[in-house]
Amino acid sequence: MDFLRPASWEEALAAKAEHPTAVPIAGGTDVMVEINFDHRRPEYLMDLNRIGDLSEWEVGEDSVRLGASVPYTRIMEDLSAELPGLALASHTVASPQIRNRGGVGGNLGTASPAGDAHPALLAAGAEVEAESVRGRRLIPIDEFYKGVKRNALEPDELIRAVHVKKADGPQQFSKVGTRNAMVIAVCAFGLALHPETRTVRTGIGSAAPTPVRAKTAEEFLNAALEEGGFWDSGKIITPSVAKQFAELCSGACNPIDDVRGTANYRRHAVGVMARRTLTWTWESYRGARNATEGAA
Ligand SMILES: Cc1cc2nc3c(=O)[nH]c(=O)nc-3n(C[C@H](O)[C@H](O)[C@H](O)COP(=O)(O)OP(=O)(O)OC[C@H]3O[C@@H](n4cnc5c(N)ncnc54)[C@H](O)[C@@H]3O)c2cc1C
Repeated sequence: MDFLRPASWEEALAAKAEHPTAVPIAGGTDVMVEINFDHRRPEYLMDLNRIGDLSEWEVGEDSVRLGASVPYTRIMEDLSAELPGLALASHTVASPQIRNRGGVGGNLGTASPAGDAHPALLAAGAEVEAESVRGRRLIPIDEFYKGVKRNALEPDELIRAVHVKKADGPQQFSKVGTRNAMVIAVCAFGLALHPETRTVRTGIGSAAPTPVRAKTAEEFLNAALEEGGFWDSGKIITPSVAKQFAELCSGACNPIDDVRGTANYRRHAVGVMARRTLTWTWESYRGARNATEGAA
């Protein structure tokens, strides 16, 4: 196995163009497991750790440009106001040691349906900044996941950053596992309220071959909130609306039975998480709205 250590982003792109089978390694928390268990024996391993700007982020007007290697710990500690859903999801990843090493670029690179960043990215709205010597492109997050552990990257491309929309309303993330820490999701759910556009976005993890949005459920809830005047009144969401939203979220799943859980359990759990996260986020929205009204 040859070990490539590019000192700059340009060197990394050139090396990837020359050796498209080279496996990038960032935190190594997925790659090293595969190598240690002999599931993968790459001809070339390409260490990205000398490229400092992959671990940096910029907070822009509408979005955060998050370097591919920014560790989960930094997201939790420094970006919880801008990216609350992703910060909550980061908090559930593994242990402090893994959170100090692993990041969103690696989660996207692996593209496991169980990766915790995915539901939060889908719910917030994000674009993956991919680059090769041929140029740079932004891949909408909905188009990034192509199958079980398959993503939209071309063999010569690397992930430079992820552009995640800054929260304009409450966000939540919920994960079901067999214990509280160091657990791969049985299933997970992300929800983001976007009061500016009066829309709601979802993300489901570990309940289909890829992370998915529950688009029919979103459309139903968007219409129900609009027609009922909920955004303006800030009134409590009707239980029947929450129930139907939860059922439509369950219906968006296409899960399998495996060692972590049955398909039926996953469908059920996604419905429960959908209803709960809707209640939590809507209560936050109402609280913030009522506080503004009270102050006016
Ligand atoms: C004990 C343990 C517990 C874990 N628990 C969780 C958990 O609870 N939730 C969860 O989501 N994950 C978990 N993981 C998996 C892992 O920590 C995450 O997927 C993490 O986000 C990977 O990031 P990394 O930087 O370590 O990636 P790496 O291992 O370095 O890379 C992962 C993949 O992404 C590719 N890659 C990395 N950077 C780039 C880039 N810039 N461009 C293109 N491709 C790139 C690599 O080639 C590889 O295919 C766990 C892992 C371990 C070992």
